[in-house]
Amino acid sequence: MPKPSKSKLSGKVQTVLGPIEPGQLGITHTHEHLLIDLTCYFQMPEEASRRADVHAPLTMDMLGRMEKAWYYNLDNNQLFSVERAIEEVMEFKLNGGNSLVDTTNIGLARDPLALARISRAAGLNVIMGASHYVPVSYPADMSKRSEDAIASQIIRDLTEGVGDTGVRSGVIGEIGVVWPMTPDQRKVLRASARAQVETGAPILIHSGGHNDSPSEILDVLAESGADPKRIIMGHLDFAIQDRKALKRLAKSGCFLEYDIFGIEGSGIEYMGYEMQLMNDVQRLETFEFLIEGGHGDQLLCAQDVCQKRQYTRYGGKGYGHILGSIVPRMRRRGFTQAQIDKILVHNPARALTFA
Ligand SMILES: [Zn+2]
Repeated sequence: MPKPSKSKLSGKVQTVLGPIEPGQLGITHTHEHLLIDLTCYFQMPEEASRRADVHAPLTMDMLGRMEKAWYYNLDNNQLFSVERAIEEVMEFKLNGGNSLVDTTNIGLARDPLALARISRAAGLNVIMGASHYVPVSYPADMSKRSEDAIASQIIRDLTEGVGDTGVRSGVIGEIGVVWPMTPDQRKVLRASARAQVETGAPILIHSGGHNDSPSEILDVLAESGADPKRIIMGHLDFAIQDRKALKRLAKSGCFLEYDIFGIEGSGIEYMGYEMQLMNDVQRLETFEFLIEGGHGDQLLCAQDVCQKRQYTRYGGKGYGHILGSIVPRMRRRGFTQAQIDKILVHNPARALTFA
């Protein structure tokens, strides 16, 4: 175990353009993707007629079937254009957004220099991810990699920069965990916790779709020295349906991230598995439940834009949905400005500051 060492970044937030003061973040989404290759989920459909969608460019007339076809239409899962990213993310900026975490990490085609370009062009603070996404995106030799090697790479990304780019990650995540957890996933979590101990960086989790997944993840991280108060537990929109389990998790003190605002529909299907998703009303009811229970200081929100069907130019809600539509609904429901500011400004600032 490396000894805890006070990082030079202590008290700062690290963006792709360098460290900033937490107070400079302003309105922040803690889980988005500006550029990403999500084709790790690709599976060739069995039926010939569905194969027609595999290589077809995404068009508006295909959107209706994207709830089923999202994982095999390649174009839908490729956000490769810097220009398009700038154009789409302006909806966030024009609605008052100032900063976002791009949780694209190893296995998802992380692109440090392009994120720096987008950050400069859009005038937004961008915080880049580190560590590994879900097992389908792992490098082929993951089972042979040591915990030490994984931790060293994460620490290097945070302290020296990714590859030879000089662009540094500011968050360890999104660490992908699926239910049930495998030994390799535990290994990545332990390595990530060690990287937090070494650098003071926040950890951000893609939880598995099971009521017990977030708590189990927290236990593995804490056993390796991670601080629950420096962990952002993401995807609670589908990870936790049971309020008792949610309450237990909240008591640990971790940040509670509802990060798929805008995705409603009937759930996400993937290879015979159906993910239960909340709709936006249920997300807001859950926020009210958590604020009522004294957990308003732990709430975070985002939209996890990672597919073209979420772009406005394809009829999606775009990066501006929370600020343009959800915040006015919060006000109508009786959220105070102070509660809204916590969720969008003050909690993200605490969550993203290096210890
Ligand atoms: Zn994500």
